[in-house]
Amino acid sequence: MIAHLISIGNELLIGDTINTNAAWLGKELLTCGVETEKVITIGDDDTLIKKALRQSLKRADLTIITGGLGPTHDDITKTALADFFNVGYKTDTQTLEYIQEVFKKRNIPFSESNYAQAQVPENCKVLFNKAGTAPGMWFEEDGHIVVSLPGVPSEMKYLMTTHVLTELRKRATGQSHYVSHYMNLAGIGESTLSDLRLKDVRSLLNNGVNMAYLPGRHGITLRISTFAPSLDSGKEKLEVVAEAIRKQALEYVYSEEKDDSLAATVGRLLSEHGKTVAVAESCSGGFLSNALTNIPGSSAYMMGGVVAYDNSIKEKILGVPQSMLNEFGAVSKPVAMEMAKSVAKLTNADFGLATTGIAGPGGGTAEKPVGLIWVGFWSADEHFAMKLQLFKDRMANKERSAIIAMDVLRRKLSGIKTYPYDVKPEFE
Ligand code: ATP
Ligand code: MG
Repeated sequence: MIAHLISIGNELLIGDTINTNAAWLGKELLTCGVETEKVITIGDDDTLIKKALRQSLKRADLTIITGGLGPTHDDITKTALADFFNVGYKTDTQTLEYIQEVFKKRNIPFSESNYAQAQVPENCKVLFNKAGTAPGMWFEEDGHIVVSLPGVPSEMKYLMTTHVLTELRKRATGQSHYVSHYMNLAGIGESTLSDLRLKDVRSLLNNGVNMAYLPGRHGITLRISTFAPSLDSGKEKLEVVAEAIRKQALEYVYSEEKDDSLAATVGRLLSEHGKTVAVAESCSGGFLSNALTNIPGSSAYMMGGVVAYDNSIKEKILGVPQSMLNEFGAVSKPVAMEMAKSVAKLTNADFGLATTGIAGPGGGTAEKPVGLIWVGFWSADEHFAMKLQLFKDRMANKERSAIIAMDVLRRKLSGIKTYPYDVKPEFE
């Protein structure tokens, strides 16, 4: 079943209200096997509402409208619907009695506009609204369903869960189960992943399996999804694609759990191996410590961190020799390596990670441009640093350098021989 959502309200167009209704609806409809193909947002405008309905009915099996059902003059969805279907009005007595009761209890006088709330287009089935005063409406014309709901999110959700979703579930047939699988990848760019690694995977997507790239600072999340007659058959279909992705890009896949973070993955791996980590941060400014300690239970493996921003801290606390800082500069291979080693020694950790770079936007030179970052790594049997050329954006540099440091550790703990973005590490 294909759905179109029409969000109505001037406040949505000018940014006063974020359209959370459409996001919620899209997600919930999936649970009934309904695929939302389009969301349109329009103002409280009679002509636009009818035009949107006309277009939607050409294509969608289900149209859900939210907003504009209130008692005030700017709420015109109901009259637009009656006009659209060319019908008159009827009084919904259940709603009328309910509103009268509510007003009596609250001791508020009952007005003309409140009476109007119980008036609905003749051809609709009323969806009784206990969460507010405007009833929802269900129309069915030539095999199309049109549902009109109030814009207030709590009322919309109430009517969806008590009436609409239950009814849609009853009617669900065939490909009614939405199944999805998430794969989180780090240390590879979107175009490299798509062009070099997943080219062959594309040919597997022709049997109704969808693959979406969801890039973020952490890396890329791949969402593969499908509609299937049962959960099991859907999972089977997805597993074929997931397995092909693993085959092509396994070293980049850090987890296969929705919303799982790289920090949580590193934490799991450290715990499994009974190892600990410490971090020395310059350009990431605490981002790495923050990410690692955001994970519950991180005290089991996170020894601590030093934000060694000024050279004097690199020298006094981490013991980076002044001569080294003078000769190579703070943003350099030897300093990154020394920072990683020192912090591990200082805290008695099994692994030391370090970041040092030009976060920007200022401070770059021809030799050391903004975005030049060294990530240092130390363990008892390996000691190296990686040179990266990242971005012009300060926040992106802080975050990405921390992510890359974690990804290096993840790879070491997983026995992966390659490095993020296929950068070659530089040893001693
Ligand atoms: P009511 O009968 O309760 O007045 P209504 O259908 O008239 O409902 P609106 O007047 O359009 O609803 O909106 C009521 C409230 O709901 C407003 O605060 C509005 O910002 C919010 N709202 C409307 N549409 C959405 C939406 N798509 N997402 C989130 N909030 C919304
Ligand atoms: Mg409105």
